[in-house]
Amino acid sequence: MGKKNILILGAGFGGLTVFSRLLHTLKNRDEFRITLIDEQNFFLFSPLLHEVAVGVLLPENIVTPIRKLFRSGIHRFIQAHVEKVNLVKQEIITSAGIFNYDYIVLALGGVTDMSDMVNIIDNSNVFVLKTAQDAMTIKNHIMEMFEKASIETDPEIVKQLLTFVISGGGYTGVELAASLSDVAYNYLTTSYPQIDPKNIKIIVLESADRIIRDLPIKYSHYVMTHLHNHRIDVLLNTKVTQIENNQIEISGGDVISSRTLVYVPGILANPVISESNAEKDDMGRAFVNDYMEVMSFASAYAVGDCAHYEDTISREVARPRAHNAVRQAKIVAKNLIADLLGKSKVRYKYSDAAEIISLGRSNALLRVQKLWIHGILAVFIWVASYSLLAIGGKNRLKIAADWILSRIFGPDTSIIRPECYNLQTDLEHDASPIVKSD
Ligand SMILES: Cc1cc2nc3c(=O)[nH]c(=O)nc-3n(C[C@H](O)[C@H](O)[C@H](O)COP(=O)(O)OP(=O)(O)OC[C@H]3O[C@@H](n4cnc5c(N)ncnc54)[C@H](O)[C@@H]3O)c2cc1C
Repeated sequence: MGKKNILILGAGFGGLTVFSRLLHTLKNRDEFRITLIDEQNFFLFSPLLHEVAVGVLLPENIVTPIRKLFRSGIHRFIQAHVEKVNLVKQEIITSAGIFNYDYIVLALGGVTDMSDMVNIIDNSNVFVLKTAQDAMTIKNHIMEMFEKASIETDPEIVKQLLTFVISGGGYTGVELAASLSDVAYNYLTTSYPQIDPKNIKIIVLESADRIIRDLPIKYSHYVMTHLHNHRIDVLLNTKVTQIENNQIEISGGDVISSRTLVYVPGILANPVISESNAEKDDMGRAFVNDYMEVMSFASAYAVGDCAHYEDTISREVARPRAHNAVRQAKIVAKNLIADLLGKSKVRYKYSDAAEIISLGRSNALLRVQKLWIHGILAVFIWVASYSLLAIGGKNRLKIAADWILSRIFGPDTSIIRPECYNLQTDLEHDASPIVKSD
């Protein structure tokens, strides 16, 4: 009998956790071959992307090269783009060839939901925040707007350059707006003394009647007040309807003159999943059962942002958050080991015990069970927990150092174009030879 092939698609929070757990238990078992596939050769700690987008953190400090985490052996990492998953044929098509499997873990995450933008033709100044490259692009753009504004003589163009619109008042939009306000008013006005702070405008557009709808109303209002106090305008029940020549038209016909729209609405499942033959919800996520198995496909598991898990008792659907992906991944690893070694499986139990939202350098909102904390204590807990959660001792130290240094010396304002900025130069080892299928 040949080796049993286990494929893990995606080396994000979910996929990497499954891979490391399987390696821990099965590393010397050469009857199994575990393959991790990702189009990037690094793990991205996405909860800190907004800090990169405003120049507080350096991008290389929130990514970890996968080959630094695992040595190639019988189990392997392959850098490749996954194009198609066929759960019936137990086969995937990738840029590195076709692979067959005995078991598969779908952990390809989500993509920004651009459905409201399909009719918006002029998207030259529209940015999303999902990858390290996105964060670098936004940071370059923000700094470029400040550079241009510092030498512009037309007051209307100065205002246009310094108006930053964030569409989406969820976690990411709020965190980005708060960080941008901190950086713009506290540091950039010093670096660019020609700029009058009164010309800087940060606007958050939210299509619902309140921001961060997942929060209880009281805390949604708390966050809203915090944003107002930090000179951020929040427009509720508002969407972008058109963009033309740096004029952003919003619901009701008003127009905002701006060269920056950061678009951070909700997410959809990765198209590889939404186009697969799994049963899916309206976000394209694969339905999973209590064992995190994809419905009707016992050889397939799904975790994180591409899985739809509904708690059978509370009917709550697991939210697309990093800690949920990690918890689900631990269950998947146990159940895969059970499949391979003939043990009994465990059920996933959804719990959303804690959450934390950063609101710039002086405030954060933390919930542990029913206890809510905000203010500087919550900031310390946010900094400590996020530097500790980052993967690798070196990254933890670098993130903590970046935070402290940028608060003393200000953010990084250099504009380094993404095409010159190669995150992959950190690759330490050559890829192991690609064997397409056994
Ligand atoms: C800006 C931002 C801020 C966030 N802040 C928070 C926060 O504060 N707290 C929190 O809990 N959650 C936060 N989240 C959500 C959290 O990051 C996700 O819930 C979590 O990453 C989901 O884990 P995952 O394993 O499902 O997917 P991911 O971690 O996204 O991993 C998916 C992996 O699949 C790879 N991939 C995708 N498509 C392909 C393909 N076709 N071929 C090959 N590889 C592919 C990607 O490169 C990636 O490595 C944030 C997300 C973003 C974007």
